[in-house]
Amino acid sequence: MKIEIADYCIRCGICEDLYPDLFQRNYQEHCMDVLYDKIPEHLWARAKQSAEDCAVAAIRIVE
Ligand code: SF4
Repeated sequence: MKIEIADYCIRCGICEDLYPDLFQRNYQEHCMDVLYDKIPEHLWARAKQSAEDCAVAAIRIVE
């Protein structure tokens, strides 16, 4: 499983606030980073929930 963030992410930071184990703000490149290239299995449920919690549906789960 992977997480992709769409270009239309508004950088609100909610994903980092709720899921700091998955997301981190990248201040240099003004975007959000996903901490894992491949999401570890114990974080799959949180990854899926993060996609539902993004206000603009910018988080996409790629199986
Ligand atoms: S919650 Fe969604 S819009 Fe907000 S920073 Fe994260 S990916 Fe971007």
